[in-house]
Amino acid sequence: MIIAVDGPTASGKGTVAKHLAARYGLKLLDTGTLYRAVGLAVLDVGGDPADEAAALAAAQALNLAAIDQDRIRSSAAGAAASKVAAQPAVRAALLKAQRDFAADPAGVVLDGRDIGTIICPDADVKLFVTASLEARTTRRLAELQARGETLDFETLKTQIQERDARDMGRTDAPLRQAPDAHLLDTTELNVEEAAEAASRIVDAARR
Ligand code: C5P
Repeated sequence: MIIAVDGPTASGKGTVAKHLAARYGLKLLDTGTLYRAVGLAVLDVGGDPADEAAALAAAQALNLAAIDQDRIRSSAAGAAASKVAAQPAVRAALLKAQRDFAADPAGVVLDGRDIGTIICPDADVKLFVTASLEARTTRRLAELQARGETLDFETLKTQIQERDARDMGRTDAPLRQAPDAHLLDTTELNVEEAAEAASRIVDAARR
């Protein structure tokens, strides 16, 4: 079974994907970590994530096993990720690793922006997870504050809007809901409720 989970920043898609993987005993790939790691690698050598040559070199050199799961969660890595992710050459360089992961016969959950549309268009179940901008900003703020980052609500909200615009406006693999994806709005849901709603969608789709 392949479950594709897409949606914008801080929509709850990562939480939902984790829950589904645990519930159905599937392997999980958060594809955002790949783009974050590439963005961070460019920043680490003083490069510009919008520079195609620098971003492509970092994507080609990416070692999945060596990704620093803590450092990639910073807001700087997130912003850099959406800049490298807008480049078709970077997306092409990361495609094979994602498709290889999805081919695992054990069954998988992948979450990202283009899983249901590009990476796994034939996924068994597709979810598009969304939430209001206010709710997403509140969640991401709590996450960043827990990391020790100090950002005010309005600044973060603007950053998220900019990231949404970049992710939805790019020509290659823009963020959009696949026609056959189930919409899950988590604005009014807590973690347990979102996980439960996602399971109901998957259970119904499998019947
Ligand atoms: O989901 P997360 O916030 O970690 O993703 C970081 C960035 O990586 C996104 O803003 C997006 O630009 C990019 N991304 C993507 N395609 C994916 C996953 C992430 O373009 N499948």
